Formats: sequence, structure tokens, C-alpha cells
Amino acid sequence: MTKEFNQPIGAHMSISGGLYRAFERGEAVGCTAMQIFTKNASQWRGKPISDEDARLFREAWEQSVIGPVIAHDTYLINLAATDDEKWAKSKAAFADEIERCSKLGIPGLVMHPGSHLEAGEETGLAKVCTAFKEIFAETPDDVTVLIENTAGQGTNLGWRFEHLAAIIEGVPEGRFGVCFDTCHAFAAGYDISTMEGFAKVMAEFDRLVGVEMIKAFHVNDAKKPLASRVDRHDQIGEGMIGREGFRALMQDARFHDVPKILETPKGEDDIWDKKNLALLRELAG
Ligand code: ZN
Ligand code: MN
Ligand code: MN
Repeated sequence: MTKEFNQPIGAHMSISGGLYRAFERGEAVGCTAMQIFTKNASQWRGKPISDEDARLFREAWEQSVIGPVIAHDTYLINLAATDDEKWAKSKAAFADEIERCSKLGIPGLVMHPGSHLEAGEETGLAKVCTAFKEIFAETPDDVTVLIENTAGQGTNLGWRFEHLAAIIEGVPEGRFGVCFDTCHAFAAGYDISTMEGFAKVMAEFDRLVGVEMIKAFHVNDAKKPLASRVDRHDQIGEGMIGREGFRALMQDARFHDVPKILETPKGEDDIWDKKNLALLRELAG
């Protein structure tokens, strides 16, 4: 099967009915890259992945036109939790997420840095670093953790590029990359809605973190204005970022091989995934 590794794009797809079933769904909407949850995203623990589950998944992947696949962790995990029990639970759950990816051959696991819960950003980031040191010491080394920039709702960490840098630098033994979410960046105050704005924001990211650290994009338009700190995804070109911002991203040669994943409302029969992927391909020129 020939796979299109230049400009791999796709969407987050459901694993309902079996992990391997995500591939047929992804292909049906035109994905050449894909993101999945490796278990129900609203539960702490998933059913263990059997050897048979892993075999079916790897087989479906090999037979599919879909190239890069990444996973996203559950939303319950908070590596900055202030409650000891919740912190321990989060560390164990995240280690399990890494194990699951390793078993499936998924090389990148997207995660949100966490919420400091009024402990303050510095304290929260230190806690995240401590958690990662423990996690990396006891998990397989074939999975890269992709820290996602956030919109900065409530006490969420990760909305400033400095936060991502603090985690990466705070855990020198870490196996890290970044998942850059366009909606979150815009909501956090980074104006990527024009060619010039996009270039400026990426220059700042490069200075603080390094653009080569970006191993995936979440391609979402933003329903709320710049610096709203509110995380509401919109269809590509329909929101406050608009077509020009996505044209800038799709035409940036530095990111041609980096998978770009939609997390936008899908609509009936995934109609919006098809429309958004077609538009992104058009904007790529
Ligand atoms: Zn995320
Ligand atoms: Mn995202
Ligand atoms: Mn979001």
C-alpha cells in the first residue's frame, strides 16, 4: 500500500466496535493520518489491549492508506493534581496510556499538561515535571509524549509556550514532542489568523521551544475571539482564525510531513470531516 507521507492530514476517529475499526472510518472520510483514544476517554482504566486486539490493529493499519497515527490520553488525567490520591491515579493512568500506545505501535501520545488548581503555575509545572520523571523511568521508550498547548481555561497549564518549554527543560530525560493546537493557541492570545501573524507566532515558538519539536497539529478553527481563553472548536474557515491562518499552516514547508488532525464537530455521516479535509487540501495549494 502506498502511503502519502507528504501533508498527512486526517481527523480524530472513533474506536467503537474495536480499535482496528478506526481505520475504515478514517479512510471513508479521506484521512491519510489519524488520531484515536486507545480506550474510552472518560474512564480512568480501559479494558487491557489483548494480543489479538493489537494484531488486528497493526494489520488494519498496514493495509490502510493512513500513515501517521497518534493517540490522545483521557481527559481525567491531571499530572499537576494537588490531591495526592488524584496525582497518583493520574500518574498510573498516564503510564498505562503509554503502555497501550507501545502495544499498538503508536509512536505519539498527545496529552494536556494539567491544571494547577490555584496552586499557581510555577508549582503546577514543577509537579508535572516530577510526575514525568517517575513515568519515563518505568515506561517503554518507543512512545513520544506530545504535550499539547492549551486555551488556558480556568487553571489549565500549557497556554503559554513558556510552560511547554519549562516541562521539556525540566525533564531532560523526557521523550517529548509538542502537539500544536491552532484553536488553543488563538484562544490563548497567539494571533495566527494572517500569514504575518502565523509567521510571528511560529518565530516565537521556535525561540522558546523549537519548531522541530512539533510532531503533530490539532487543526481547529476557533469559535471565540483572540485571547478569550475559551476552548471552542469551529469548522475550518468558519471561525475567528479563518482561511488565511490555515493557508499559512498548510503552505509552511517546515510542517509538510507533520500530521495535521481535525478535532472539529463531525456532523451527520462525518460530513464536516470530509469538507474540512477537502478545504485543507485546497489551501495547501
Ligand atoms: Zn487535547
Ligand atoms: Mn486539541
Ligand atoms: Mn480543545
